[in-house]
Amino acid sequence: MNSSLLKKIILIWIAIVFFGSMMWRLASTNGNQTREFEPSYSEFIAKVDAGDVKEVTLYFSTNSYELQGEYARPANGKFHLAVPKEVVPGLLGQLREKNVAVKVKEIRSGNWALILLNASLLILVVGFCLLLIWLIRANRRRGAVAAPTAAAVRTGIGYDLHRLEEGRPLIVGGIELPFDKGPVGHSDGDVLAHAVCDALLGAAGLGDIGTHFPDTDPKWKGANSMVFLEHAKKLLDEKQFAIEHVDAVVITEKPKLGPHFPKMREALAKALGVGVEKIHLKAKTNEGVDAIGRGEAIAAHVVATLSSR
Ligand code: MG
Repeated sequence: MNSSLLKKIILIWIAIVFFGSMMWRLASTNGNQTREFEPSYSEFIAKVDAGDVKEVTLYFSTNSYELQGEYARPANGKFHLAVPKEVVPGLLGQLREKNVAVKVKEIRSGNWALILLNASLLILVVGFCLLLIWLIRANRRRGAVAAPTAAAVRTGIGYDLHRLEEGRPLIVGGIELPFDKGPVGHSDGDVLAHAVCDALLGAAGLGDIGTHFPDTDPKWKGANSMVFLEHAKKLLDEKQFAIEHVDAVVITEKPKLGPHFPKMREALAKALGVGVEKIHLKAKTNEGVDAIGRGEAIAAHVVATLSSR
């Protein structure tokens, strides 16, 4: 549930409570002045014995018995109390002995105002629940109809290439592969990690890897490129972007990359704080063409998809 919907629900609920309170006060003012006194049963019996009770109306229903009426002393004093069902026969006899005017009313036969007052809290709660369900369903319908917008889903492309030289470690996707050549670079030269980083930063509109990790900064000399990805993830979190998918192609003539993909996906997913199912890797050769085909370079292309939270 988004924050604007929550605000609407809170405002509507406040309006309902306010309206309910006003209705309650109105009903109390117009016809329910009996709430001025709410004696206990023993206090009421003492009043009856003292001859202080002028008239009584007994409201009964399946679940409750209530007495309302007027005192002789204090003059114009109204009272209201609930009584146990079993005391009613004896109480009526006692009242008649004291010449108290007694009326008996069944709530079901009328007095809808009293029923509504007793049930008002339940009505408010049920009303709120129905309103909440309606708003959630309306929100879901809007979500189902609305197509992903440019603001909700974004994509970015990343590309990187490094020359390969003998005697250097070959690190791809955070994994060191057994090979006699490795990339020439300021950091560890992880071509896949660099392309992923650029794709993510591009999708979020946050520049590129050179903006955040310039190769002129000695701090990044020989750096593990997983650090770049972790930093990119932090920037995405700050901008409320979630990584939906990363799709990559790594192009190199040798070695074969496929057997190493499970470990690469794990390393990339760990650095990005996502599940491995969101990382998809593919390998290609360059069919012996150009520098990559001659085994002099390695390259990677990446497309990353983000969504707004
Ligand atoms: Mg690079």
